[in-house]
Amino acid sequence: MESKFDGDIFDDPRMIAARNRVILALENSPAPYTKRFRAKLNGLRQCGDYPVAFILSQGRVTRVLRNQCGNRGCPVCDSLRAARIRRGLGEVVAERMKAGARFSLITLTMPHRRGDMAQKLVCHLTAALRKFQQTEGFKQNVRSWARGIEVPWSAATGFHPHAHYIVEAKLWPKDEIKRLWIDCMTRAGGPAVLPNGAHVKGVKDAGKGLMEAVGYPFKVMDLNTIPFLELVELLYATRNRRLVSVCRTWSHRIRHLLEDRAAESAGLDLADGTDWLSFAEVRLRARTGDRAALRLMFEAAELLERGAGTRALAQGLRLLIKGEMGSCAPNAGRNSAGGRQREY
Ligand SMILES: [Zn+2]
Repeated sequence: MESKFDGDIFDDPRMIAARNRVILALENSPAPYTKRFRAKLNGLRQCGDYPVAFILSQGRVTRVLRNQCGNRGCPVCDSLRAARIRRGLGEVVAERMKAGARFSLITLTMPHRRGDMAQKLVCHLTAALRKFQQTEGFKQNVRSWARGIEVPWSAATGFHPHAHYIVEAKLWPKDEIKRLWIDCMTRAGGPAVLPNGAHVKGVKDAGKGLMEAVGYPFKVMDLNTIPFLELVELLYATRNRRLVSVCRTWSHRIRHLLEDRAAESAGLDLADGTDWLSFAEVRLRARTGDRAALRLMFEAAELLERGAGTRALAQGLRLLIKGEMGSCAPNAGRNSAGGRQREY
């Protein structure tokens, strides 16, 4: 992130501003107001509003993890998701580089003008990309890949949808890639792509290549500066579309790596040295009168009180503690802060 804000990403003023604009834009979306859409809006409004886990160091709470709504367009969740994917991909790419694999960064663009509708451009782009990945050239040369679609906007040229790939490929000639891309866009019914519509370059450093390939679908700056009607249009054009995808081989490997790590951290207890505890579990223990669990909740509330952005969260936690201490009924206050914590 280019942000200089050093607190929790949820409390970054630019993130909050961007999220509020996204919510307002979605409320004005031409999309039908379905149950799913309502749930998405509610999720966005409550993103980061309650704790889901505590990070402990030497038995003391050092960080409080908060709920993530996981919605596309949520600036916080999009950033965290991109970071998670990059972390997983980084390990896989590093593994393959060590084994001598070659990587390239392919950028595919399309011509566009100021007044072009985002919906039309995105449709052409995704249809052409689908065709591109179905070509013999792609199938024969690309062993594995990850792809990110980005739709930045500028006052001069309007929407600029394009795709970045990081691919593990043999020596796939640049001219062939360019020719294929021009052909695929034509077959998808899109505009005539110029020869400079496809860029290819070798990747020497996995970190750098990944930053470019798996960026944020929408830049936070864009969300804050793009005119409101264009924002409505952008969110509508990209709804239900997968903007970051990873090939099957890599996503299996990433899942495997993540599972290994989850297994390592499983079986943690409320003892000293613990490093992760789910909030639901702490709460359950607090409810049964476990003093250690109550102490952790107090510590978390104290920690949250120190940040200007998290005072409301601390207040909620204090109310909860009060409720738990006063409640003798086994089911009192059930279900209010279960929360999902999404992992890639
Ligand atoms: Zn979110």
